[in-house]
Amino acid sequence: MSNIFQSVNPYTGEVLSSFTKMNEVALDSQLEESAAAFRLWADYSLEQRKKYVGLFAEELKAHRQELAELITREMGKPIRESLAEVDKCGVLIDYYLQHADAILAERKVNTEFSESYVRFDPIGGVLAIMPWNFPLWQVIRFAIPTLLLGNVVLLKHAPNVLGCGEYIQALFHNAGFPSSVFRHFIIEVELVEKVIAHPSVQGVTLTGSDRAGRAVAALAGKHLKKCVLELGGSDAFVVTETADVQAAAAKGFTSRMLNSGQTCIAAKRFIVHESVVEEFEQKIQALSEDLVIGDPLEANTVMSVMAREDLVDELERQLDQLLAQGAELVFGGNRIDNHFEPTLVRGVKPEMLPYQEEFFGPVGMITTYSHKEELPDLINKVPHGLGASVWTQDELLANSLIPKIQTGFVAINEMVKSDPRLPFGGAKQSGFGREMGQEGMLEFANMKTVIVN
Ligand code: NAP
Repeated sequence: MSNIFQSVNPYTGEVLSSFTKMNEVALDSQLEESAAAFRLWADYSLEQRKKYVGLFAEELKAHRQELAELITREMGKPIRESLAEVDKCGVLIDYYLQHADAILAERKVNTEFSESYVRFDPIGGVLAIMPWNFPLWQVIRFAIPTLLLGNVVLLKHAPNVLGCGEYIQALFHNAGFPSSVFRHFIIEVELVEKVIAHPSVQGVTLTGSDRAGRAVAALAGKHLKKCVLELGGSDAFVVTETADVQAAAAKGFTSRMLNSGQTCIAAKRFIVHESVVEEFEQKIQALSEDLVIGDPLEANTVMSVMAREDLVDELERQLDQLLAQGAELVFGGNRIDNHFEPTLVRGVKPEMLPYQEEFFGPVGMITTYSHKEELPDLINKVPHGLGASVWTQDELLANSLIPKIQTGFVAINEMVKSDPRLPFGGAKQSGFGREMGQEGMLEFANMKTVIVN
């Protein structure tokens, strides 16, 4: 097995950098350093930690362009999306700087004791195993609240975005964070167990596929460590007969095509009432014809390559299977190298095998329905439960559906999108635990009950 990882630009094929894999000896000593960093960091006051996080935000702003270009070079998303990703991290940091005091404040409880309250203490190191699709956002949305709480972060990033992992670590260093409070570990998955098993590591969070989620949850169980899983999704996007079809098509198309379709909360299954399906298809097709596809570093490019060739191969396999089982192509369907055309397929039925899978690329599937009673079943008939979007002017229908939808997020007349102010996470095989909002910040806290007699 090679002892290097290579980062390859999916648009040009150029090898961008090589990274030497950490061996077990180096990993052991890094784990000890993280343990020492925790002892130091946990003793800092929240005010002190906020000061460092504020300096980190300044570093992020100062390196906005350079970092965005690195994201684009490593995983191929259009530069406008990479810039938006950096900016969104800034918004999240502002939110936590403003709200950390209130979220982490002790909660008094009235009892017969002279005092009783709950406090939120740090637990130690938390391993963050992260994917490549939002190589900055996924890391920051977890790292900032947990660092403010007093935990330290050990990052294992996806092998195709290790340059981003190194860059993020350098930003923490430049912001003056004590050494190893945030640490990027360049390791093979085989060494993940060693990290989870280490006594100073008290939790693990994974954002990625359900396959990886199962493996990491098993390790967390074996070593009895707290675990949060942010996994894949196959979100329904429901367009009812009373929907504003123009608005639904615009948001549905954006949601499906963003990041070349490589987004966990993308609208993957369009469930459309038979009376509006033709109009919806036409509007989606018109939007796809206007899409600027090309070099991801060009400012006006809206869609570009997928992040790796094997991801394009997998999408092609899923589409072929869907078509072989009777679905019909509305437009698209072709690939050229790492590009996959925006694609829409109609006549998709829940019984078709790929319906049960996540389509992680720019392929939208349309399923038509006739009666609103069919909706809960159609929406829920997949193993995933990340998000769902419902477009309707019928408030009664919306209100009756919300409790029946088995997902961690429901959006009415809006696309599903993460927001630092709101908890985010999945149900069913989309995982468990939350990131962001108050709930996300407390996932890796020791909720310590104190009574004083
Ligand atoms: P992935 O292949 O599961 O990889 C994600 C991370 O997990 C990588 O760092 C990967 O490292 C690691 N990993 C894989 N197998 C592992 C194992 N057995 N033990 C320990 N670590 C392991 O997913 P991806 O292709 O990068 O990302 C796409 C997936 O992430 C999609 O399913 C998407 O929906 C999901 N996602 C979910 C959210 C959410 O918030 N719910 C957000 C973004 C993405 P290696 O590559 O080295 O194996």
